Amino acid sequence: MFKISPIPAFKDNYIWLLTLGSRAFVVDPGDAAPVLARLEADGLRLEGILITHHHADHQGGVAELKARYQPVIFAPAKESITGTTHALSGGECIEVLGQMVQVIAVPGHTLGHLAYYASGVLFSGDTLFGAGCGRLFEGTPAQMLASLEHLAALPDETLVYCAHEYTDVNLRFAQAVEAANSAVQLRVLKVAALRTAGLPSVPSTLAEEKASNPFLRCAEQAVIEAALQHAPIQGDCVGGAVNRSKEAVFAAIRGWRNTF
Ligand code: ZN
Ligand code: FE
Repeated sequence: MFKISPIPAFKDNYIWLLTLGSRAFVVDPGDAAPVLARLEADGLRLEGILITHHHADHQGGVAELKARYQPVIFAPAKESITGTTHALSGGECIEVLGQMVQVIAVPGHTLGHLAYYASGVLFSGDTLFGAGCGRLFEGTPAQMLASLEHLAALPDETLVYCAHEYTDVNLRFAQAVEAANSAVQLRVLKVAALRTAGLPSVPSTLAEEKASNPFLRCAEQAVIEAALQHAPIQGDCVGGAVNRSKEAVFAAIRGWRNTF
């Protein structure tokens, strides 16, 4: 199995570096400079790039890395990505440094967004974050919820490598949604200790996310109540009853998070 380590970029992005001996892949190289520096420092050869979605902070370094190393570039077919060599739509199985990697379509943040899953590790891009989820720039709440549920169905011990260090602010929101959730309280302490020590809060496990990420907990009574109290629940009001569907609760808390 390849080794995984972060290359910090911009203010809060993680470019994930996968290595097997001197062979390397990177996930979402938004900036080439820190990747080139790391490859040179560690004597690595870049064989490939995985792209989750088209935003500049995820693909901005591709052209420069391609010119230097001619890597294979796996990227969403539905989105415009510089230099794609393998266009993917989800459902494919690709080989990365000797590992079979499943490609999962997770529309919501963008419509072509992909996640990559290899035995026990998930690269979730801007779809599933530590204790949060990406903004809905292109997709609908129903699409994003279905994407998150697809990821949540992977094994509990799966390590979640997302693309941003947003966990502490996401946890503050999680506390606002579920003040009495002890998994959230424990995670606040754990993440504060990691961040104080200058360490990433990523990866988490899917089990931790299911226990403390409000966007994976839209069927929980406490989350439903918080959504009803703090955010207008959109959707039909059949016979005077409030819509408490998971989709409506998800849309309400996602909207609340946007202004939190
Ligand atoms: Zn993005
Ligand atoms: Fe991003």
